Amino acid sequence: MNSALYPTYARADIAFARGEGPWLIAANGDQYLDFAAGVAVLSLGHGHPHLVAALKKAADAPWHVSNLFRIPQAEDLAQRLVDASFADLVFFANSGAEAMECAIKTARKYHAHQGAPQRYRLITFEGAFHGRTLATIAAGGNPKYIEGFGPVVQGFDQVPFADLAAVEAAITPETAGVLLEPVQGEGGLRVFPHEFLRALRALCDARGLLLVFDEVQCGVGRTGKFLACEHAGIAPDIAALAKGLGGGFPIGACLATHEAAKGMTAGTHGSTFGGNPLAASVGAAVLDVVLAEGFLESVAQHGESLKRRLLALKERYPSIIEDVRGEGLMFGVKTRIPNGDFATAARDEKLLTVLAGDNVVRLLPPLTINQTHIDEAATKLEAACARLASSSTQKGAA
Ligand SMILES: *Cc1c(COP(=O)(O)O)cnc(C)c1O
Repeated sequence: MNSALYPTYARADIAFARGEGPWLIAANGDQYLDFAAGVAVLSLGHGHPHLVAALKKAADAPWHVSNLFRIPQAEDLAQRLVDASFADLVFFANSGAEAMECAIKTARKYHAHQGAPQRYRLITFEGAFHGRTLATIAAGGNPKYIEGFGPVVQGFDQVPFADLAAVEAAITPETAGVLLEPVQGEGGLRVFPHEFLRALRALCDARGLLLVFDEVQCGVGRTGKFLACEHAGIAPDIAALAKGLGGGFPIGACLATHEAAKGMTAGTHGSTFGGNPLAASVGAAVLDVVLAEGFLESVAQHGESLKRRLLALKERYPSIIEDVRGEGLMFGVKTRIPNGDFATAARDEKLLTVLAGDNVVRLLPPLTINQTHIDEAATKLEAACARLASSSTQKGAA
């Protein structure tokens, strides 16, 4: 597998020729059920007619005008994000890491604008993932992503997962806020307890701290609510979105309240491509579907159904599956065997999954799947587990 691409990814040796809904068809004709969905990006699956139509229509209008002019498509998408969330204002970027950069800058600038520029530090949590730019690798705190890239961007203090006492202890006169993914993705699909999120909101309010949510993976309907934090009945001051928002077209968004964004005045931040007409048009088309009556409820229902199937598999194959966790259609299966072996076995059954930390395999299907797809995935996982269990018994007997 030689190519001129940076070898920064351990790619599977498959190229896909076609996609339709949750299906991907490889160049050799093999048909895969896509529960990777481009890492939670293809919220509406492949080739969704409404998205294709929106992109084709946008392609016939000016593709790009820059943020030096009004972009009605971006204004429209921003208003719809505001109407659907806690936010008053939106900044568009092109990726999750860039949305996070804007979130971090917004939080820092808020305090600087109030005359407290020394308050720039954010408290983060073990297992976090916020992107691969210099600031976001520092925020994530994973040494594997930080090492070798020079001085680490300052301003992030990491505490153990969901440990409120540790958060309180970490607050100093330099603390600007607290940053977390309501459902950790990359780190292993850990769901912050709703009770913890509510207590954290109260703590931030009491101490004048901003609460910043990275909903790049768990937002835009993935968990059965538009934002995952809605499960806890609380709202952040700032939130980053990206993956599912464009349904496959690159777009990121930083959402904020008027108050939190008050330092972000003219000239303080920018992006050449952010919110360009193509991205904004597709983002609006995604929202047409995700915010339509009954859609999020159906995500939650299908999530429950898939969860029952996964829990049954765990019961049946306790030597293979240790834990099933997640919310909506965002699942982590923690395996007792190396997670890569589990993902390979699933792929041999023509089911695509994504690896995560903590020996977890992620199932992130398109939000548009139906019961038939869930049954099919369960059958494939059952076959994978059966094969893995019999091969580990054989190994044990040998
Ligand atoms: C993927 C991801 C990011 C980074 O997004 P990119 O588009 O790869 O820059 C940030 N935060 C979370 C929670 C993510 O899952």
